[in-house]
Amino acid sequence: MFLNLTTGRNRFFVFVVLAVVVCSPLPVNAAGKAKVKEIRHFSSPDYTRIVVDLSSPAEFSKNRLSNPDRIYFDLKNSSIAKEIKTHLPVGDGIVKTIRASQFNDDTVRLVFDIEEITDSKSFIIEDPVRLVIDLYGKGKGTDNRVLAVTKKRIVIDAGHGGHDPGAVGPNKLYEKDVVLDIAMKLKRILSADPMNEVYLTREKDVFIPLEERTAIANRKNADLFVSIHANASPRKQAKGVETYLLNWTDDEEANRVAARENKISLKKMKEMNRQMDTVGAILSGLMRENKRDESIKLANYIQRSIISGLDDNYGDVPDLGVKQALFYVLFGAKMPSILVEVSFISNPEEEKLLSQDEYRMNIAKAIAEGLHTYTASAPAIQKMAVFSNNRAD
Ligand SMILES: [Zn+2]
Repeated sequence: MFLNLTTGRNRFFVFVVLAVVVCSPLPVNAAGKAKVKEIRHFSSPDYTRIVVDLSSPAEFSKNRLSNPDRIYFDLKNSSIAKEIKTHLPVGDGIVKTIRASQFNDDTVRLVFDIEEITDSKSFIIEDPVRLVIDLYGKGKGTDNRVLAVTKKRIVIDAGHGGHDPGAVGPNKLYEKDVVLDIAMKLKRILSADPMNEVYLTREKDVFIPLEERTAIANRKNADLFVSIHANASPRKQAKGVETYLLNWTDDEEANRVAARENKISLKKMKEMNRQMDTVGAILSGLMRENKRDESIKLANYIQRSIISGLDDNYGDVPDLGVKQALFYVLFGAKMPSILVEVSFISNPEEEKLLSQDEYRMNIAKAIAEGLHTYTASAPAIQKMAVFSNNRAD
């Protein structure tokens, strides 16, 4: 989908421009000018992503100036909407500030005051149209660097739904409602990054069989699958967060959780484990499909991110760690797949938190952060290599 438009490199700076359409003139809006409608930015330890929302595609050029170090983009035949913020402090160690102005009648100039960058890439994607600019911080740039330019397709699965309420809290909070809300919030957060393509297995209170959820992920050819649940235990005091991946286990607690999520008895769950243990080939096939090593990594990033995200706001949250069990919903998923139990709805304290919009938002943000960290560290094989061989541009 992306075409390499230009590449260039000097000793300090690699610049890669990608655009969706380069062989035909880009369409402009009825007024003839592309309007800059919004400027958004996302900070991560490795890079700052700046997204410029446009009314229509615009040609652009870029340049770098020193003293002070800054990069600017000139958008041709463009105007800037009056109501948008034109001075955005960033201060994330990579970009100090973002400034935007109507440079002349036809040109909008975007200036990024740089703290320290090693390289960057930029591209326009459509529907809706936006210019995406990634500025990388130290440690990412090497001469043979590989840029993650593939769009990540993520399927988020909100557990239960319809006639299946999932676990029910002591104050009658339903798991199906909590996890749907977290999934919707997570989708909104992830979708703000144009490099993510996000789908939900359900967007309303409907029942979807477990195997259909996996099928949706496979049909969408998803890169990642995340199933969201709330935990429950007969022990009222049980609390905390745990993340699962698919595997055989003899852990009693893990089997109990999987039995509940699979809607089968603990006895049957244990039987299934015994069978899987004997018929090892079936299980290893299932785990291979789940890309086991990647699932472990994904589970760890998400678990860590939720724990630190909640710790910041809610004190010590028990970290129950990354575990494994035979969850039906992870069977046959052909991509790194995990199931996260975000808190215990059976614990009155955590049920109360789960009923709060802010707590759900914190969890959604933390999962998004974990996904982002995973994606940023994904192996080179999942990425499209972009090498630049030209001299300085
Ligand atoms: Zn559940």
